[in-house]
Amino acid sequence: ADADVEELEGIGRVTGQKLKERGYYTVRDLAFASVKEIADIIGNEERAAQIIEAARSMLGLSNFISALEVYRRRVNIKRISTGVRSLDELLNGGVETSAVTEVAGEFGAGKTQFCHQLAVMVQLPEDKGGLSAKAIYIDTENTFRPERIAQIARARGLDPDQALKNIYYARAYSSDHQMILAEQARRIIKQDNVKLLVVDSIVAHFRAEFPGRENLAERQQKLNKHIADLLKIADAYDVAVVVTNQVMAQPDVFFGNPLKPAGGNVLAHGATYRIWLRKSKENIRIAKIFDSPYHPEREATFKITEEGLTD
Ligand code: ADP
Ligand code: MG
Repeated sequence: ADADVEELEGIGRVTGQKLKERGYYTVRDLAFASVKEIADIIGNEERAAQIIEAARSMLGLSNFISALEVYRRRVNIKRISTGVRSLDELLNGGVETSAVTEVAGEFGAGKTQFCHQLAVMVQLPEDKGGLSAKAIYIDTENTFRPERIAQIARARGLDPDQALKNIYYARAYSSDHQMILAEQARRIIKQDNVKLLVVDSIVAHFRAEFPGRENLAERQQKLNKHIADLLKIADAYDVAVVVTNQVMAQPDVFFGNPLKPAGGNVLAHGATYRIWLRKSKENIRIAKIFDSPYHPEREATFKITEEGLTD
């Protein structure tokens, strides 16, 4: 399945090298690319479309399949346990691979704690809820704490140093940098056993760099591209992508919830699952899942403790 781009009919050495320089190494990478991306590299839209179609047909992705086949593929999807029974029940077993899960909530709701916990949980063996795999953590707000990873790892019976070694960490300094890091993450995922990619927070830089309504269109366009990149990573490499999103007050809403995730419609359509976290008293938090293609809207409570997230 991971055949080199040059194995595709019609791609010679020169085109192959050009594609690889821009991060398209395998037939799989091409199958998930857009015509525009490839046309930008090879300078010919028609040929780009042919190449992508050839890649898709080589992987058997271009035709209709039976719903039974869809079901069989879904049965193969893996889950990373959150380590919290109530949350796992809410998520039908945990956070899915091949999907983007958005965790939204106010400041202090536990979004970053949730990401830390998953970065440890993914490392556990399958019988303990993990995938015996590594994590990549893109931190935009400088809130990643290795001490916290060590605490959670110890509580789960892992060696703290080993748990830290199994997390690739990068601080993103701007929205452009964040997008470059997503591309680098893709390269790491191809070479190493990574099953979780965290972006905490996905929107902070975009909001800071493109403030106000006058910049909204440009911001959404860039964010849209970033989310599309993340969806492709999830889909092409069977990785769980988890992104966090701030919620902001909507002064013009009088009925219903006056808080709204900041990424707007782009995230609503880009993320496969959305989890909403909110504070209750003391260390208790409430999670709700919504906009899911198949989960009913339900709630679960959990606690944030020294050991991480617990029932
Ligand atoms: P968000 O990312 O949604 O803004 P966080 O994930 O940073 O929020 O959650 C912050 C909460 O986690 C705070 O209530 C804090 O008390 C709690 N917390 C952080 N570290 C610990 C710890 N070591 N033990 C217990 N609670 C902690
Ligand atoms: Mg945070």
